[in-house]
Amino acid sequence: MSAPLGTVERPLRVAIIGAGPAGFYAAEALLKQQNLTVQIDFFNRLPTPYGLVREGVAPDHQAIKSVTRVYERLAAGITVRYFGNVTFGRDVLLADLKHRYDQIIYAVGAQSDRKMGIPGEQLTGSMPATEFVGWYNGHPDCRDIDFDLSHERIVVVGNGNVAMDVARILLEDPAKLAKTDIADHALSALRESQVREVVMLGRRGPAQAAFTNPELKEFGELANTDVVVAAADLELDPISAASLADDKTAARNVEVLRAYAAKGTTDAPRRIVMHFLCSPVELIGAAGHVTAVKIERNMLVHAPGGSLRPKGTGTFETLPCGMVLRSVGYHGVPLPDVPFNNAVGIIPNSGGRVTVHGSGELVLGEYVVGWAKRGPSGVIGTNKPDAAATVAAMLEDLPRLPAATDDSPIEDLLHERQIEYVTYAGWCVLNAHEAALGAAQGRPRVKVVRIPEMLTIIRNGLV
Ligand code: NAP
Repeated sequence: MSAPLGTVERPLRVAIIGAGPAGFYAAEALLKQQNLTVQIDFFNRLPTPYGLVREGVAPDHQAIKSVTRVYERLAAGITVRYFGNVTFGRDVLLADLKHRYDQIIYAVGAQSDRKMGIPGEQLTGSMPATEFVGWYNGHPDCRDIDFDLSHERIVVVGNGNVAMDVARILLEDPAKLAKTDIADHALSALRESQVREVVMLGRRGPAQAAFTNPELKEFGELANTDVVVAAADLELDPISAASLADDKTAARNVEVLRAYAAKGTTDAPRRIVMHFLCSPVELIGAAGHVTAVKIERNMLVHAPGGSLRPKGTGTFETLPCGMVLRSVGYHGVPLPDVPFNNAVGIIPNSGGRVTVHGSGELVLGEYVVGWAKRGPSGVIGTNKPDAAATVAAMLEDLPRLPAATDDSPIEDLLHERQIEYVTYAGWCVLNAHEAALGAAQGRPRVKVVRIPEMLTIIRNGLV
């Protein structure tokens, strides 16, 4: 009789697709089980690990990135292996993994952006904020995107923390950014930037904004920048006013916004203008390029379920601008052979167990964590309890799970397919290289932003 899964005789074999925070917290939850022997292999599309901690967190929020120390400790463990530069569905297929691993966890986040669904969205100069974030953070996919910063006014649509990040980075003093790990190409472009005004459009009121207090307060700390908020925009309807009693974040946001409105402007050379209760209804262009946004004034109405939704009032205005950054949320991308709910942009699941979209039938041995599980919400730490819940389901399933039968090393398959995968030792070489470049300039690191260059540094460093 074969030994039960998760024992010293037959360790549980788990593949984690995606090496961002959600994947690492899943690994952590597995590794801290008292009576479980587990071997974990990460497969990550980029050579570099840590997902949005490297490619999403703003460069002027370095403290948040120190969470990678926890992930480093996990990745360095002898029962954890890292296979970077391996694309699931292309370099390794679900069928390859199903035979070799008892359980598979999808931790792939949300790799694309939501659309506004308005005319003109496809014009040049209408860009997803998610790509701007990738660009300034040195994501190889975004390295060569052209963000034209030669215009004086940029409009940012959305009132989430991504919108706050991109607005702040656009107006931040380049000398301050030069001390961070911002990508060099972005730093050069921002040094030359002609942007003087960032206009933020929130479709609902200040009491419904998704951003949080520290991000809002940071606007007030930007050098030579006025934060412009019209007092009239801060007058709350009775329901919004009453909602503040139960929502400390919203109450503090409104307080900070009122302080900005009361302070007025100082004729500073740069401005962030925050408008509420207005939606872009069309992007207007000339010669294929955005030149203005047509905006409709909104009112709040009750939606089924009790929330307040925006409704157009039929009052319009047109705001000239040179670029529009659409910051209306991330959206998941389907993985080959894995169920997907396109409407929500997630892998359908029941408490982290992958299900067939539509029927709800469980897909044995496949699990999901993080944004791919619940959608793009929450901060990095939110992924810890989220992953722990999925791992609890995985452990519950163990007794009824058939053990994977293929013992052939996955490295053999990768070699056979000529995939130049990056091990954790390889990442350490690149990490040390970036840190050394950074140290010479008084920065945390200088990011290498092209995959071939990353691979060359790793190859040379490992000989
Ligand atoms: P988000 O928090 O969901 O915000 C999306 C914003 O887009 C909301 O203001 C939403 O308004 C608005 N929106 C959606 N559809 C729209 C439309 N068609 N027209 C106009 N506005 C529209 O998403 P996010 O900013 O992408 O952030 C994703 C997650 O990452 C969040 O949980 C965020 O807190 C987190 N994050 C955290 C930090 C940080 O901690 N510093 C930094 C970045 C991101 P409604 O509210 O009306 O839907």
